[in-house]
Amino acid sequence: MEAVGSLSAMKALARDRRRSGLTIGLVPTMGCLHEGHLSLVRESKARADVTVVSVFVNPAQFGPNEDFRRYPRDLAKDTAVLERAGADALFHPSAAEVYPPGYRTYAEVTGLQDRLCGRSRPGHFRGVVTVVLKLFEIVRPDLAFFGAKDAQQALIVRRMAADLDLDVEIVTCPIVREPDGLALSSRNAYLGPEERKAALALSTGLRWAERAVAAGERDAARLAAGVRAVLEAEPLARIDYVEAVDPETLEPVAEVRGEVLLALAAFIGPTRLIDNVRLRA
Ligand code: AMP
Repeated sequence: MEAVGSLSAMKALARDRRRSGLTIGLVPTMGCLHEGHLSLVRESKARADVTVVSVFVNPAQFGPNEDFRRYPRDLAKDTAVLERAGADALFHPSAAEVYPPGYRTYAEVTGLQDRLCGRSRPGHFRGVVTVVLKLFEIVRPDLAFFGAKDAQQALIVRRMAADLDLDVEIVTCPIVREPDGLALSSRNAYLGPEERKAALALSTGLRWAERAVAAGERDAARLAAGVRAVLEAEPLARIDYVEAVDPETLEPVAEVRGEVLLALAAFIGPTRLIDNVRLRA
């Protein structure tokens, strides 16, 4: 595996592979890699000739009071993990090169960026879309892989690629969970033992909703209320939002018809976690 830090080296590597007629899959990450990330790497290896994984903790997507400084970073471990997973290239640019002094340009996906997580994290998706667009321009991937765990992010990136006529196929991969149901996340590393137990309330609430739909419940407000009740029963949890929305527009829905995205964010102690499930009538 080649590890490249500079934008020019990454562009040169990608250009070389393209000239050899190889297709490129890109897996954008913020590092601290876990099985969720590796599921994207495996999907890319299955579908593209060359798999590039970017590891970049993107300052533009963190709010002033968020965890940018303390976000877990371990490039040596990520390198070893990606080597073992058979990634072809690791791209780990510096923030100074991605956002040099005088940097002024940002991309936005209006409307979609303001819903769900966008309400409590203003500017977050503007930062995400900007860095993903830059990564697409640097690597020029044929395919790019995103996790359904960040459902709003995957939708917004897909919208951006369609709106800007980008020549990249956006692939969304299923959520990878711990055996007990907790969705894998780099932020799970923040959780102490009691918080780790409390964090189960997120997936437990969503599983309750799935069972309720299977049993015939269609009322979105009652489903959201049931999930809230599971979270409220957990003293260490504080709800940010629980919403049943249309998976394409993120507009709230009144009932489960066709497919509905049930998404939530909750603080477990100081740690903000997200999870979601697709409900089908
Ligand atoms: P992150 O490093 O948290 O920015 O995540 C990088 C990519 O991995 C994003 O597309 C995430 O949606 C995806 N990802 C993170 N956690 C999971 C998970 N548990 N299952 C599937 N994909 C995930």
